[in-house]
Amino acid sequence: MSILPIFTYNHPVLRQKATDITEIDETIVNLAGSMHETLLNALGIGLAANQVGHNEALIIIDLSLMEDEYSEFEHLVMLNPVIDSYSDDEEPYEEGCLSLPGYRDVVLRPTGIQASYTDLSGKHTTIEAGGLLARVIQHEVDHLNGIYFFERLTAIRRTLSRGKLLRISRGSVDTDYPIIKD
Ligand code: ZN
Repeated sequence: MSILPIFTYNHPVLRQKATDITEIDETIVNLAGSMHETLLNALGIGLAANQVGHNEALIIIDLSLMEDEYSEFEHLVMLNPVIDSYSDDEEPYEEGCLSLPGYRDVVLRPTGIQASYTDLSGKHTTIEAGGLLARVIQHEVDHLNGIYFFERLTAIRRTLSRGKLLRISRGSVDTDYPIIKD
């Protein structure tokens, strides 16, 4: 296992749609381990495989840094995650992204979700999530579909974010974790 550099906006790998994992071999297990190490090192709470340059449909979530009712999910590895249903009610919450250093904005998302995924042992699992966990799963599944959180903003807020995004794409950012610039 090792700490992997995180790709930042506007690298093409972050626009790629992930490919489903069909076999859980050593490569996948090692990637999941390295992604978890990378996530903890960057003090993040969620990471998708394409953020470290891989095409597999794999996300890692770790809420142990957060005080949240779902912080029991201190280390969640989700292979081929799919969101099956969303709650009708939505709520705003400020999000950040390890691929968008220094940029945060308030995103409106459904409060609860039902998601299904395969765990590292190959077991198919369904999860009902609310709170921060529901939010992070949505953010990370968006990554697997090549979507950034700023694409969920209103048109006005998105326009206001242009300067920050331009600075990130130019590499004018400082991080405490290794990154790969465009
Ligand atoms: Zn992100």
